[in-house]
Amino acid sequence: MAKAEKEHKSKGSILVICAHPDDKVLGAGGAMAKYAKEGFDVHTIIMSFGEGVKPYVKREIISKTRIKEAQKADKIIGGKGVTFLGLKENRFEQDFEKRGIDKNFKKIIRKIRPTKIFTHSSDDAHSDHRATFKLVLKMYKEMNLKADFYTFEVWHLINLKKRDKPKLVVDTSNTFKTKMKALKAFKSQIDLSTFYNYLVLNNFLFLLTYIKDLLNGIKHNTKYAEVFYKVR
Ligand SMILES: [Zn+2]
Repeated sequence: MAKAEKEHKSKGSILVICAHPDDKVLGAGGAMAKYAKEGFDVHTIIMSFGEGVKPYVKREIISKTRIKEAQKADKIIGGKGVTFLGLKENRFEQDFEKRGIDKNFKKIIRKIRPTKIFTHSSDDAHSDHRATFKLVLKMYKEMNLKADFYTFEVWHLINLKKRDKPKLVVDTSNTFKTKMKALKAFKSQIDLSTFYNYLVLNNFLFLLTYIKDLLNGIKHNTKYAEVFYKVR
């Protein structure tokens, strides 16, 4: 890379790796908006195009919509772009190696050179989220990376398991609104067949996110916060 290119005032690169397009925003959107504001380059790798690909809608059409939404959300957060790996749902691990995506993945990481990596936690309720953690940890070890490796929660309101891993608490009081705005970019569910989903599930998701960040804020003496656990 040319020297001149490196001279912009970046504080370094941060990489978020998540299973589905909206996971980054739900799990770490406030923190990522804050890091971007502070001058870090926030990059994103998304394993699949998203849950609930409907059999009567062409996969390519859904993918295009999800890519657009993810890019829009990334712009709102202040990120440096999104890369989709296009893994098939429920079979991340088989797909990852079979199609040589692992090599591509390593290439992307070498290019980004992250100082911090964020991904799903190992005990997430969603199997694709757990698979993502496993794959990221595997790559991390294989590549002998030195970046700080953190996990985030998407669905868990309260940690039932007592975690003994070091915590990273990010005060997101000033970026919580940005996170919610980014979350609104994911509205491809608005078609007649899933209007119910949009109304009920999406609002539920908003509410869950709000409560989670608020509770974390109260717990850590601030308005809103996102909490991460250090794995490596
Ligand atoms: Zn997900």
